[in-house]
Amino acid sequence: MATYLKSNFLYGENFELKKGILTIEDNIIKGFTNENIKNYIKYDGIIIPPLINAHTHIGDNVIKDIGINKTLDELVKPPNGLKHKFLNSCDDKTIIYGILDGMYELYNNGINYFCDFRENGLKGIDLFKKSYQELLYPQEQSRKILPPNPIILGRPTKTDKLELKQEIKEILKNSNGIGLSGCNEYSDNELKFIRKKTTKLFSIHANEHKGSVEYSKKHHNRTEIERIIDLNLNPNFIIHATHSESHEINLLNEYNIPVVVCPRANASFNIGLPNIVELLKSNILIGLGTDNFMANSPSIFKEMDFIYKLYHIEPKEILKFATINNAKILGLNNVGLIKEGFKPDFTFIGPNSINIKYSKNIVASIITRCEMGNIDNFNIEINNRIYNDNNQ
Ligand SMILES: [Zn+2]
Repeated sequence: MATYLKSNFLYGENFELKKGILTIEDNIIKGFTNENIKNYIKYDGIIIPPLINAHTHIGDNVIKDIGINKTLDELVKPPNGLKHKFLNSCDDKTIIYGILDGMYELYNNGINYFCDFRENGLKGIDLFKKSYQELLYPQEQSRKILPPNPIILGRPTKTDKLELKQEIKEILKNSNGIGLSGCNEYSDNELKFIRKKTTKLFSIHANEHKGSVEYSKKHHNRTEIERIIDLNLNPNFIIHATHSESHEINLLNEYNIPVVVCPRANASFNIGLPNIVELLKSNILIGLGTDNFMANSPSIFKEMDFIYKLYHIEPKEILKFATINNAKILGLNNVGLIKEGFKPDFTFIGPNSINIKYSKNIVASIITRCEMGNIDNFNIEINNRIYNDNNQ
């Protein structure tokens, strides 16, 4: 049995505002119908493709703003950065509830999928799983939501080859892949070994700040991006590329490596900004993330607004970064657009959104004016309905 949804949609890759009745059948969008349908669900707001946050570190949510005006190295460099010192002093329960609140924050921001770099090996993944259980089955029923979907990339901790091999195997069994802090923490052989053993997603931070690029040149005669290419690491995507020369951007294009940029996080850490315009001109697949919860809010709306204000890229292109591009980068099939063949996965902009009322360019208004308060939790209702209709 089909579900019919009558509303205003941002349809297709051009995000054309279309009013009509969308048919959903077998958990797939079938398109708009002209039939005289009576039993539709009506939603008066605007339905947009699902927002996706392609890079977070949700574990540091419990140490928000610990690093104001500290350098990036003072803060996050393993093992002695402030972040690691403070997180090590937190008990498990504090971290579990911190992650849980982080996921509510993602949900409140209309984010349906997020990709987290989960640190600290299997222990880190286990803490995440405990939070997610609490999100699925909350003790207080008032906290019941349709949880955002996590894509978890674990990080190995062992150095002994046999132990590392076993650890990677266990991490992959319990996660979606491996996410490394950066090339500088590893030898060539270690990087090649970890890559070879990773049969799922593989991602790594690269060229985040001048210091990391200089370190790489000094110790490995190449920048981090050059090293990734030379060692044939072939990541599914890299994070940042804040300081990338033209020849490195050409390499990323040639080897088909997408980049998840996090410009607001880069600005928080005061380390410069990525050249998104050149990445875009070079046909690199660009995604968006918000990086550390401790330094930056996980709002993709804020990220899109920031990018528009600084780079003046076409708003539709920016919305693509946060939806269809992020979905492609994370390997999410048929997710990221409201279009025939895609999953009925939506973000709902509430009907009382006076901040976008009178808009003459709805995509621009959504990416520059919407905030947490615009998000409606209608997804629970529509999801239950689609689920029930599919199982009749
Ligand atoms: Zn990061």
